Amino acid sequence: MSVGWLRACALVMLGLFSVSALAKDKTAIVIGGGLSGLTAAYELQSKGWQVTLLEAKSSLGGRSGMATSEWIGNDKTQPVLNKYVSNFKLSTTPAPDFVRTPGYLIDGEYFSAADLATKQPATAEALKRFDKTVDDLARSIDDPLNPAANNTLHALDQINVSSWLDKQNLPATARQLINQQIRTRYDEPSRLSLLYFAQQSRVYRGVSDRDLRASRLVGGSPVLAQALVKQLKTIKTNSPVSAIIQDKDGVTVKVDNVGYQADYVVLAVPLRALNKIQMTPALDAQHLAAIKGTNYGWRDQIMLKFKTPVWESKARMSGEIYSNTGLGMLWIEPALKGGANVVINLSGDNARVMQAFGDKQMVDQVLIRLHAFYPQARGSFTGYEIRRYSTDPSTGGAYLAFGPGQISKFWRLWERPIQRVTFAGEHTDTLYPGTLEGALRTGQRAASQVEDLAAGKSFEPAKVVPAAAAAGAGAVAAKKGNFFSNLFGGSDDEKKPEPVKAPEPVAPPAPAPAPAPAAASAPVEAPKPAAPVKTEPAKKAPAKPAAKTEAKKAPAKAPAKKVEPAKKPAAKPAATPATDAKAQ
Ligand SMILES: Cc1cc2nc3c(=O)[nH]c(=O)nc-3n(C[C@H](O)[C@H](O)[C@H](O)COP(=O)(O)OP(=O)(O)OC[C@H]3O[C@@H](n4cnc5c(N)ncnc54)[C@H](O)[C@@H]3O)c2cc1C
Repeated sequence: MSVGWLRACALVMLGLFSVSALAKDKTAIVIGGGLSGLTAAYELQSKGWQVTLLEAKSSLGGRSGMATSEWIGNDKTQPVLNKYVSNFKLSTTPAPDFVRTPGYLIDGEYFSAADLATKQPATAEALKRFDKTVDDLARSIDDPLNPAANNTLHALDQINVSSWLDKQNLPATARQLINQQIRTRYDEPSRLSLLYFAQQSRVYRGVSDRDLRASRLVGGSPVLAQALVKQLKTIKTNSPVSAIIQDKDGVTVKVDNVGYQADYVVLAVPLRALNKIQMTPALDAQHLAAIKGTNYGWRDQIMLKFKTPVWESKARMSGEIYSNTGLGMLWIEPALKGGANVVINLSGDNARVMQAFGDKQMVDQVLIRLHAFYPQARGSFTGYEIRRYSTDPSTGGAYLAFGPGQISKFWRLWERPIQRVTFAGEHTDTLYPGTLEGALRTGQRAASQVEDLAAGKSFEPAKVVPAAAAAGAGAVAAKKGNFFSNLFGGSDDEKKPEPVKAPEPVAPPAPAPAPAPAAASAPVEAPKPAAPVKTEPAKKAPAKPAAKTEAKKAPAKAPAKKVEPAKKPAAKPAATPATDAKAQ
């Protein structure tokens, strides 16, 4: 064998070893098996990282989809989602036309947008006028990535949406429908920052409902989670992370008494769940305040199952339908779930008042209201499925919905890594929080940040405008008139619409419990632990290996400093009582 040939072989071998050594060096742990965590894990694994995904529950997919209920946007409105859909060759079915425009249930009667214009012209006119006002508000923001660009805009962050709505002189029914739309898309108007509402309206400005509800994934959004799960090599379910300890050499993640080690971590859990994870070193005051204080929308989903449709046959109850009675948005899902199902979203304070109720009591309350409009409802009822995101400790809310003052304090806070930890999750997306698109985008962003960190890049610490300065600026701006007076409908020559009636109160629980449902209630169907999930035990970490092959068990270290124990999200006092990128 010639020397040259031997040398060539040696070089090839060296090359191979160095590549594999490099690959082995790259270890990451992803915490949270919702769409954002699954995406981060998939993207990192595709780039040669050894990834271990840890999920607290027995199933994966997180908040994505009460099976079959989401309508998704087209590739113009949800490009990242559509990219994965096409990469994984997932089937979609186009949305029928009636789903692509909003509908209304007024005192139990169904109206399409066209019906409303002829049968309830005052309400239709007021909704149109409101759309124009929202458009003006949205236009005031040049850059949705930087919504508080000037003092006047900054001041909007100190105002809640309900006070702004009060100034719009909306007729009672229109106000009820608008309240319902806002609390379904975001949260109760009284809990929502006007700047956040303006920023989101800017993001979706000019986007038609038709593009937002363009199709549905066959099988619902769980199929997307399943497709990602299939690609991943190491997933550990039933693994609630309790602590993350960072030091100069790496990160140790604790699940009960087991420690996993890696070079980097993607933390893809909602803020309320993050509140239960001890971080060492401890997070700074701003991050802790964001974890505890950032407002989340409240939205519970109940799928009621009937033998036959109990609503009037004209009503095509699917897509985005708002009722004026606090029931929320509705869908029927006959194609994929069988029978005649209706999904009712209880949102905002209408849902908060029911938090102490058990699932069955809550369903009874909804049935009582539905039965008042559709007298066959109770007789035809066969069961239900329910998801209560705000009382679920792994979620603690439906999705991010910045409250007054919170953009000033927490804007883009979670986009920046902290040492070896990067953050993902819908709440960390600047443009599309509260959506599948947002979750996927942040999974990609967090994965690429891990790569950047590994390449030695450092990230700027958070810059936040002090709230006091913002409030001061707001007060000055508010006095200036014009923008503000227009915004608050203060122009004298503006034509006054019909007098305002008091907005509808938060629906109190009905006094008498409903009779037992016709058939035993179906338990919530847990998403199937999609795809082959590897549950091989993690290996023990050697003293300090030159190269790691996967997240390794490490002797559990005691955290240097504890973060505060978990607290419930601060409940704000109730006042008066979103496509939809939330395209359901
Ligand atoms: C009622 C409702 C309706 C919606 N409708 C739509 C819609 O129509 N269209 C749309 O685009 N979007 C919609 N969304 C939003 C979309 O579902 C979410 O934005 C997305 O699923 C969030 O994904 P995520 O990965 O950020 O969080 P999650 O899905 O919540 O994932 C986080 C995961 O972390 C896990 N976890 C928590 N704590 C720990 C821990 N300590 N250790 C390990 N794991 C942990 C949780 O169990 C969970 O699986 C809706 C959301 C809700 C609640």
